[in-house]
Amino acid sequence: MKDVVIIGGGIIGCSIAYELSHYEGSVVLVEKNSDIADEVSMANSAIVHAGYDPEDGTLKAKLNVRGAQLMKQWCAELEEEYQTCGAFVAACGEGEELLLHRLYERALRRNVKVQLLDKEAAIKLEPNLSDQVTMVMNVPDTAVITPWNFALSALETAVVNGCQVYLNSPVTAIQKLSKGYAVQAGKQRIEARYVINAAGLYSDQIDQMATGIKHFTIQARKGEYFVLAKDARNFISRVIYPVPGPKGKGVLAVPTVHGNILIGPNRNDTDREDHATDAEGLAMVRSQITHTMKNVPMQETIRTFSGLRPAGNHGDFYIREEVESAGFINVGCIDSPGIASAPAIGEYVRQLIEKKHPLKRKTHYKKCKPLVRMADLSMTDKQSMIKQDPRYGHIVCRCEKISEGEIIAAIQRPIPAKTIKAIKKRIRPGMGRCQGGFCEPLVTDILSKTMNVDMCDICYDQPETKMFVGHTKEEQL
Ligand SMILES: Cc1cc2nc3c(=O)[nH]c(=O)nc-3n(C[C@H](O)[C@H](O)[C@H](O)COP(=O)(O)OP(=O)(O)OC[C@H]3O[C@@H](n4cnc5c(N)ncnc54)[C@H](O)[C@@H]3O)c2cc1C
Repeated sequence: MKDVVIIGGGIIGCSIAYELSHYEGSVVLVEKNSDIADEVSMANSAIVHAGYDPEDGTLKAKLNVRGAQLMKQWCAELEEEYQTCGAFVAACGEGEELLLHRLYERALRRNVKVQLLDKEAAIKLEPNLSDQVTMVMNVPDTAVITPWNFALSALETAVVNGCQVYLNSPVTAIQKLSKGYAVQAGKQRIEARYVINAAGLYSDQIDQMATGIKHFTIQARKGEYFVLAKDARNFISRVIYPVPGPKGKGVLAVPTVHGNILIGPNRNDTDREDHATDAEGLAMVRSQITHTMKNVPMQETIRTFSGLRPAGNHGDFYIREEVESAGFINVGCIDSPGIASAPAIGEYVRQLIEKKHPLKRKTHYKKCKPLVRMADLSMTDKQSMIKQDPRYGHIVCRCEKISEGEIIAAIQRPIPAKTIKAIKKRIRPGMGRCQGGFCEPLVTDILSKTMNVDMCDICYDQPETKMFVGHTKEEQL
């Protein structure tokens, strides 16, 4: 019997696995998809919110503030990118200024560093603020990360320290045993003392599967975005939020870790499988951004996408061990600020277990070497890499300057990248201006050769998304 099985390999499941991997005990993570962090943790604003926004007295407020402190430390441990870009919350007119003052007071109570600036001072720092903006709250500690890479690094490090991972393993049944639970995940039947439900949009279904009770319900709440090319990077230098309202944080402008700009998200309830963007939603995003920003370089748009918030019916994170189902821990309703709170959620869940079972911290903890990113290296380091392995000198993605060597290294990681999207997530071929038009066939070829599988068996992401239908001249027309 294992000690813990974690259901769901998003940023939350991976953070819990990373935290628990520092302690003695056996941990297994099961994920229904072919790669980790493919759902909510893949499509969001990627901001480490500083913690002034959630309502007083909520778990969100507590874990956001703690998570924002821990995130910097965890990113340093994992050698993951963490950019403290800062943020402005921009108020337009007296009504919004009043709300801004309330946020300011709340931030001070939580020891979040903030400062109020008048229009003149704000415009000097962000010249593209709209003419309606009258005052801003400067939040210098706001940061951006790459949530899916953070999740990957956290889980790979957990794997190097003994955690087992099963991909393509949807949980379909959970049975209560005299001690612990039996979890059916794909072909695996895993028995464990603790089951942790970190299944994101599907966490209410897992809860019901295990406990027979609906402790909470999830509503998928869509947010749509525009992604602007790196040529637009000078448009802003920090995150620009409007003053939050009853419909959440509103439409933002966000500089990403990689130099793109995100414009979004809006907010519309939908079903859990609806990942489409539509003209109406995007028009709303386009119009709402003009409240706080002017000169928005929409002509630099290279793609649009949407993300689904797993919004719970209680309005707060739902994290607890169920009284009537000892050993079953729900980590549900993790919508925003789930990214910012992820390390604190890992810590909180570990403390829930520790209350009943003292945990022993490992004396030896192994690091997992991060992937080499050629674009970040000095010329001397690049030359030395190419000398060791000439494939690092063969550029496959011209937009993002990604080499064959980096792609092969991603395929050979503790959690191997086996699909086009998995490669794209880890090292970015296909994320540039051409969006994979040139490099996707080359990446498919490298995947096929390195894994020794036929080109026609390489998928974009899930098993039904094969890149090719057959070999040229073999298909009968
Ligand atoms: C538009 C938008 C913007 C956001 N912006 C921010 C932000 O800027 N800052 C911030 O802090 N937060 C933000 N969030 C919130 C944040 O993205 C989420 O809180 C976080 O990603 C949730 O992570 P998760 O691991 O719980 O969910 P997920 O990433 O969805 O992971 C859950 C995993 O469980 C797996 N799973 C589900 N069912 C099963 C099953 N039966 N068997 C096995 N596996 C299963 C899924 O495949 C998935 O991989 C935003 C969210 C959205 C949608």
